[in-house]
Amino acid sequence: MPIGYWESEHLLAPVDLTVVGGGIVGMSTALHYRQLHPQATIRLLERDPIGEGGTTRNAGFACFGGPGEWLDDIGQLGMDTWRELVAMRIGGLCDLVELLGEDALGLEWTGGWELFSDDSEGRERAAAVERMLPDMEQALASLFESGLGHIHPRAGHAPVLAPDLERAAAMGAHWAVHMPMEGMLHTGKMVEAFHHALHDARVQRIHGFEVKALERTEGHSAFPWTLSDGQRTLESRSIAVCTNGFARQLLPDIQVERVPNRVLVVEPEKMPPVGTYHAEDGYLYFRPLPAGRILFGGGRQFGLIWPDDPQMEEGIREEWDRRLLESAENWLGPIRHVTHRWTGWLGVGADRMPLLGSTEKGLFHAVRMGGMGVAVGCGMGRRLTQLISSTMDGVAD
Ligand SMILES: Cc1cc2nc3c(=O)[nH]c(=O)nc-3n(C[C@H](O)[C@H](O)[C@H](O)COP(=O)(O)OP(=O)(O)OC[C@H]3O[C@@H](n4cnc5c(N)ncnc54)[C@H](O)[C@@H]3O)c2cc1C
Repeated sequence: MPIGYWESEHLLAPVDLTVVGGGIVGMSTALHYRQLHPQATIRLLERDPIGEGGTTRNAGFACFGGPGEWLDDIGQLGMDTWRELVAMRIGGLCDLVELLGEDALGLEWTGGWELFSDDSEGRERAAAVERMLPDMEQALASLFESGLGHIHPRAGHAPVLAPDLERAAAMGAHWAVHMPMEGMLHTGKMVEAFHHALHDARVQRIHGFEVKALERTEGHSAFPWTLSDGQRTLESRSIAVCTNGFARQLLPDIQVERVPNRVLVVEPEKMPPVGTYHAEDGYLYFRPLPAGRILFGGGRQFGLIWPDDPQMEEGIREEWDRRLLESAENWLGPIRHVTHRWTGWLGVGADRMPLLGSTEKGLFHAVRMGGMGVAVGCGMGRRLTQLISSTMDGVAD
């Protein structure tokens, strides 16, 4: 479709920065970039009417991980890098709160609990975590205090991880760890707040534009990059690819895989005590919603292979939901109704570290947010903005 006069001269004129992907990372990149460059022209392109990734479909945990999965992270990354990873999540959550505000996010500091099941696997895992808990506490206490000190009512109050036998008993678990720094937010309100902030920050947000190709033209153009959806071509000085699990469509060499997560909203006969909950090393998670409902999600540990062909999805969806419901009944008791079911997409890799960088002059990325992009995503947007700003010359301030 050829671009007309009003489009080429104004509506779709070349911009300083084009962000591809309207999730947490893309939206916060645009907002942080605006803070550094008040005069720059910024465009955000999202292929879906709302967003097709994790940002609109997540569980809303304001969390930093839990001891079960940290045990694996420490084994894989070593203590220092693991601590850095948790620090990135703490910093990212702070950035999110500072950018949008606690009220706009519907943020509640409820505290979170990791539950260990009363079977041989759960007991073994609990014993391994219990041995490491003092080291984890020592590594994290100062991080939480300095990182969340100005926004969290409990910051500075040790411990940040504590066995909680009372909650374990209430939940029918063998053992539980209380994580008082954790909270939960309202995902719908968060996305809405981002949209308002983008509007206020004069970021042009275009939905329904799927970027299918990126190309750099040689020469001296101030806007050397083109982005095409197959019909129209837009120009930009630089590009931030923030498409998380979908990144390989545009950056084929990036080490990120798109994997699904299923979520159910259930009405149990009895609500658990208020808080967020993790089980099976974080592969299962649940939290309360209004009106006596619980959001119950996860299930990657089931090992079910999602088919590439959408026609074949139904069988796997049913099996996934059956196992998820069984797990929900294990933790919550009898379930009256399932009111919602959906799939969300994660971007994951060999370890839980996000990927931030540049593959060509003017082409940047921040992807692979794993299961904790609500916490880490906004900080990645800030870091990406700093990287772009430190690399690119001649951007309007
Ligand atoms: C079910 C589920 C529950 C989760 N729960 C939590 C939680 O409780 N706490 C937490 O911290 N994290 C959670 N996460 C993870 C978190 O939601 C993600 O890590 C985070 O939203 C990733 O943000 P993002 O901006 O990187 O990517 P996304 O939200 O995936 O956004 C990428 C966007 O790019 C768009 N896009 C892709 N390709 C193109 C293209 N070619 N052109 C234009 N647009 C394109 C997509 O439509 C998408 O909207 C959960 C994730 C899922 C799936």
